[in-house]
Amino acid sequence: DQQVMGSTTDELVELDKRHFIHPTSSPKAAAEEGPGIIFSEGNGIYVNNMEGEAYIDGMSMLWNVNVGHGQKELADAASEQMMKMAYSSAFKGFSNEPAIKLAEKLASMAPGDLNSVFFTSGGSESNDTAFKLSRFYWELKGQPNKKKIIGTKAGYHGVTQASQSATGIPATHTFAGSNIKGFFHATPHLTNCELGDTTDPDYEHSIRALIEQEGADTISAVVMEPVQGAGGVNMPPEGYIEAVRKLCDEFNILFIADEVICGFGRTGKMFGVENWNVIPDMMCMAKGITSGYSQLGGVMISDKIREYIIGYENVMSHGFTYSGHPTACAVALKNIEIIERENLVSHVKDMEDELRKGLAYLEEKHDTVRNCRTLGLLAAFELYNPDTGETFDSSLQAAASVVNACFDRKLILRNIGDYKVAIAPPFVITQEEIKKMINIIDESITAFE
Ligand code: PLP
Repeated sequence: DQQVMGSTTDELVELDKRHFIHPTSSPKAAAEEGPGIIFSEGNGIYVNNMEGEAYIDGMSMLWNVNVGHGQKELADAASEQMMKMAYSSAFKGFSNEPAIKLAEKLASMAPGDLNSVFFTSGGSESNDTAFKLSRFYWELKGQPNKKKIIGTKAGYHGVTQASQSATGIPATHTFAGSNIKGFFHATPHLTNCELGDTTDPDYEHSIRALIEQEGADTISAVVMEPVQGAGGVNMPPEGYIEAVRKLCDEFNILFIADEVICGFGRTGKMFGVENWNVIPDMMCMAKGITSGYSQLGGVMISDKIREYIIGYENVMSHGFTYSGHPTACAVALKNIEIIERENLVSHVKDMEDELRKGLAYLEEKHDTVRNCRTLGLLAAFELYNPDTGETFDSSLQAAASVVNACFDRKLILRNIGDYKVAIAPPFVITQEEIKKMINIIDESITAFE
């Protein structure tokens, strides 16, 4: 054990710099400066560094550790399943109990007739799968030309080639020229346009306009997050999600909800779309399905789609080694059990008020703080130069500065672009802990000002 663990922080920093290519990081900074923190332990909303200093995990790491750190029951569920059978294949007639039970559980939880699931290992794989299954569905229905996918600007769907292509964040979308053809990005939240108002000055950027330009008979699906997460925690205006649902129905296009962040309680409902009573044709899940304790994702499909897919006799050439991974599925089942048993979704709804109040206080107190928004435990605020009313000059890196000041005060948040700061703490957070978080942000904004 000593050889694997038990290194000093300095030793680990050197090894990290030399050998670890970090995801979504500056390779130069990673190689030259090394990691800013090496985590060693977690408990509830807290994570410790190697020296045992506790930080508040105000982002549930990557919006995923929803039930909080150190949940022993999840470790036990993984351990038990691993001892029985860590892994078995789900290809060609093989199956396993945790995957079957989880599929049934998800069917009972998901809205409407989303009653079947294709398992993956994460969000990107889920979106790729949804795009393929949507095209497959149209092929089976005799409409093989329906292949294009419409996403939204600032939407985030992952980094595999297709999910990266669907992503509407320029830096991500264009990385290494990997975006592929057939993906389009509409301006989100143009409710009137989607409802048919062609006189709106933004109309040409709407989903409806894209459908008209490209032809509905070439479009397979529209994909969007109920609340855009990585693109800035952008809340849909009233009526928008419903309008997109209607639009998709009008043009015979599938509606894929990317619930990778919103799903499993983050927005104060079990699934994000439930805030607007919309039932998508497919629903992509990951992150909160296991609260990050194991790598799992999935795509739920409606009975309407399933009916066509199960009519296919040949082998469907799509499947990951870890589709239906028994250990990951056992962890997901236990995670969902905890969410339900502890009433965590209604707790999230209760904590939403405290978080909203806290942000309103910051907006009231600081001229620099604007556009606070909160749904469940998913929130953000923006930083503006009060003298100009515009965002700060990007050289000031306002959001990053505030996030760094929070980090110095032992709170982990995430900056999005130059002026947005996201907050998404674990569901087990208490009122007192939210107050503590707000106090740290308050001090950090003052330090920046
Ligand atoms: N979809 C959304 C909405 C996400 O937020 C993410 C990750 O942040 C993904 C998809 C990609 O998931 P993964 O990183 O598990 O591939």
